[in-house]
Amino acid sequence: MRSFVYNGQPSRVVFGAGSLEHLEREVQLLGANRALVLCTPEQQPLAEAIAKRLGSRAAGIYPKAVMHVPVETAVAAVDEAKRVNADCALAVGGGSTTGLGKAIALQSSLPILAIPTTYAGSEMTPIWGLTENGLKKTGRDARVLPRTVIYDPELTVSLPASLSVTSGMNAIAHAAEGLYAQDSNPVMDLMAEEGIRALAAAIPRVHANPADIAARSDALYGAWLCGTVLGNVGMALHHKLCHTLGGTLNLPHAEVHTVVLPHAIAFNASAAPEAMRRIARALQGDDAATRLYRLAKDNGAPVALRDIGMKEADIGRVAQIAVQNPYWNPRPVNAEAEGALRALLQRAWEGAPPSR
Ligand code: NAD
Repeated sequence: MRSFVYNGQPSRVVFGAGSLEHLEREVQLLGANRALVLCTPEQQPLAEAIAKRLGSRAAGIYPKAVMHVPVETAVAAVDEAKRVNADCALAVGGGSTTGLGKAIALQSSLPILAIPTTYAGSEMTPIWGLTENGLKKTGRDARVLPRTVIYDPELTVSLPASLSVTSGMNAIAHAAEGLYAQDSNPVMDLMAEEGIRALAAAIPRVHANPADIAARSDALYGAWLCGTVLGNVGMALHHKLCHTLGGTLNLPHAEVHTVVLPHAIAFNASAAPEAMRRIARALQGDDAATRLYRLAKDNGAPVALRDIGMKEADIGRVAQIAVQNPYWNPRPVNAEAEGALRALLQRAWEGAPPSR
């Protein structure tokens, strides 16, 4: 048995179809009386239904969450929380909305109750992100880890099939990189493999029938596990590339993860054989990278960066940024690796199958 460090992260999870019915109880258990309900403009009707359910325990709705938490949005949300004298940030939505809750918690230490409606996993991490002048800063702070998370698969039925597939692939990416993390441990490995298994089995069923509650439950269960892995261990090349593609080129988050993942896994395959074995086992295949590529492609997800808005001319710049600051990866990512990274990005740009 290898040596390891395991940090338990305190959060309460309430899971199950229809579990939104426990909302008032959960707000009460947090000792909160004035929850500010956060959402994106698109999810305002859901936020209104939630505020109505909370009655006098809802202090208001702030429906202005957007991708990557611009600092101006964060400042305005903190002001609104103060103005309505909120004692809890209730984030209902995907990673963008949870991210706004985290920005409030970072400034005010208000507890967050998260109700995730995608598979991004932010609700299980103490990682915050803020974007200023086009640059996304991230950091870790225990105050931004949601205290309570209500996972109700019924709220994910409205997530369009295409976004469900890419969001599920985004979740799988956390677990796949967690399996070769330098600071991983056996508990996270179990969660990672089970998370990949649950999501990979659920994705084709969700794609075939987005209203299938059993499939939605399996997918959300997988997302919980994968998000937990993201919150506990370090990520590597795949997340670095996606951070650059998303942050610098402004490509859509979940789609970028979907396209890049098979290629990043292929790049690392020879340096992390045990992780590859576990990913492949969870995907019920022989080769982890190929199975990931097929999982995306067979379920109608994009497999080419050119199809999600990247210009070929940007490949060199992204490869350069990826090798600029050193970070841990099972296969070293240094100046000598720039050529291999360009080749990886070229294949991902074209939509070619992954190659080692
Ligand atoms: P998102 O939150 O931006 O949501 C995408 C769109 O889908 C939005 O318009 C949203 O309103 C809509 N939507 C969400 N759930 C829906 C549902 N059930 N039905 C219908 N529409 C729905 O996307 P995301 O992929 O969940 O989150 C991406 C963001 O989260 C990125 O900024 C990423 O960096 C961040 N993130 C952070 C962490 C972390 O640990 N800090 C982890 C994962 C992702």
